[in-house]
Amino acid sequence: MADPKGFMTTPRQDWPRRPVEERVRDWDEVYVPGALLPIVSKQADRCMDCGVPFCHDACPLGNLIPEWNDLVSREDWRTAADRLHATNNFPEFTGRLCPAPCEAGCVLAINQPAVTIKNVECAIADRAWELGFAPPRPPDRLSGRTVAVIGSGPTGLAAAQQLTRAGHTVAVFEKDDRIGGLLRYGIPEFKMEKGQLERRVGQMRAEGTKFRTSAAVGRDIGAAELRARYDALVIATGATAWRELDVPGRELTGIHQAMEYLPLANRVCEGDIETSPLSAAGKHVVIVGGGDTGADCLGTAVREGAASVTQLDIYAQPGAERDEDTEPWPTYPKVYRLSAAHEEAGELGTAPAADADARLFAASTLRFTGDQDGRVRWLHLVEVDSKRRPRPGTGRAIPAELVLLALGFSGPDREDGLIGQLGVELEPRGTIARDAEFATNVPGVFAAGDAARGQSLVVWAIAEGRAVAAAVDRRLTGSSRLPAPISPYDRPMTA
Ligand SMILES: Cc1cc2nc3c(=O)[nH]c(=O)nc-3n(C[C@H](O)[C@H](O)[C@H](O)COP(=O)(O)OP(=O)(O)OC[C@H]3O[C@@H](n4cnc5c(N)ncnc54)[C@H](O)[C@@H]3O)c2cc1C
Ligand code: SF4
Repeated sequence: MADPKGFMTTPRQDWPRRPVEERVRDWDEVYVPGALLPIVSKQADRCMDCGVPFCHDACPLGNLIPEWNDLVSREDWRTAADRLHATNNFPEFTGRLCPAPCEAGCVLAINQPAVTIKNVECAIADRAWELGFAPPRPPDRLSGRTVAVIGSGPTGLAAAQQLTRAGHTVAVFEKDDRIGGLLRYGIPEFKMEKGQLERRVGQMRAEGTKFRTSAAVGRDIGAAELRARYDALVIATGATAWRELDVPGRELTGIHQAMEYLPLANRVCEGDIETSPLSAAGKHVVIVGGGDTGADCLGTAVREGAASVTQLDIYAQPGAERDEDTEPWPTYPKVYRLSAAHEEAGELGTAPAADADARLFAASTLRFTGDQDGRVRWLHLVEVDSKRRPRPGTGRAIPAELVLLALGFSGPDREDGLIGQLGVELEPRGTIARDAEFATNVPGVFAAGDAARGQSLVVWAIAEGRAVAAAVDRRLTGSSRLPAPISPYDRPMTA
């Protein structure tokens, strides 16, 4: 804490976003390049270095936040990078994508805006790359043990990096043609440019991790064969089985799942295709689902040139302040948040059917109707109360030529046959069952990330990857010095 009064003298200042008019004309990250570094040390100085830093507990990785705030306030980037990488394999991912539960738990947030912890993390990660403080760290010696990691999302990547660095020979099997999981084909470029991913994968290759793409285990490679070839298997296949909307008219053309739509937009950015076959250009778009996946569809549709975009949220609009009775500090509250995509939709007035920021709250879809060619044309909705009961007289129809369903995910995809071939047991809710050591019922087979935890966040995925690596290392060698930030049973802080 270079300045003990920093929290009293310096107001919170976030990394500014580029003007809406400019950023919706490209797919680059929404932030002003180079505008974080000049402000971040003063912002880090707002940290009070509390005796009990609740931000530690709120971060699933246990990031050493006050320590690196102090180092950043003194501009000691090398030590800050070391302390950050001690707990987080991929801070440039979380520094851009994390909803920052740490900031909700910041002690300063009790009566003032929290420290910009996520921005500080991002600045350290970016400086570390610029100044050469994130070199490959190959192991000194090999253990002679082999591990196959199935799935290359943040869970699989974190597990693979930890196990490779511990000396094991690790191969990552990925069914897509590129590495990254939802970081690659779910999350849009404007939230995190894929160059961030490439750079980390390059570091991992240099450390010795092997990658095999277009390799669906269960379909292209037998799961039993893989099990016989490797000393341990880590299933990190995500939770991509999407939820459906069973209402009349669902069969009409033009209604798609978010994860059918977003990967195509990402493929345009990758240069694989010129335009998306599901492009929103010139269409009235309705997104069903009020979460982050829906917001990603919103930002994508705006950039594709939609005629209008409306996002339906079944929940009532949350308040601006946390409810101290149900969601007291330091828990992560459900409050009204304006994401970059909502800001864009609001400023551009792309949502004639909805409120200023494109969202229609407390709205439930009743049915779709279409034209004579079987294409969707209208979405019929009704307002609902807190128990989802329709409010009489509130039914109406809004134009809908492209409907995107963003209703969440129920568990791992079972179509590849991986789970069946291995005989892995599932929980009643569809996720992979595991014990306190991340082990499934099948000897030598472990499960981590969204596949076992259920739909979650990048920060939890990295924490899962680090923790399962420690468990596998322990099983292979009898003990482990790898850190395990979470247990399979840990959950976000609640009241
Ligand atoms: C659209 C969208 C936006 C999101 N935005 C955010 C955000 O901004 N911030 C945030 O914190 N979280 C976000 N999330 C959640 C976050 O992306 C996930 O929690 C996280 O990616 C889970 O990581 P994972 O490694 O467990 O799974 P995934 O990222 O889903 O990766 C699993 C990988 O396994 C591969 N795979 C599956 N089956 C097989 C098989 N049989 N053989 C080989 N490979 C296989 C898949 O192709 C995939 O690459 C978002 C999710 C979505 C859908
Ligand atoms: S990973 Fe997320 S919760 Fe942890 S310090 Fe970074 S922004 Fe905060």
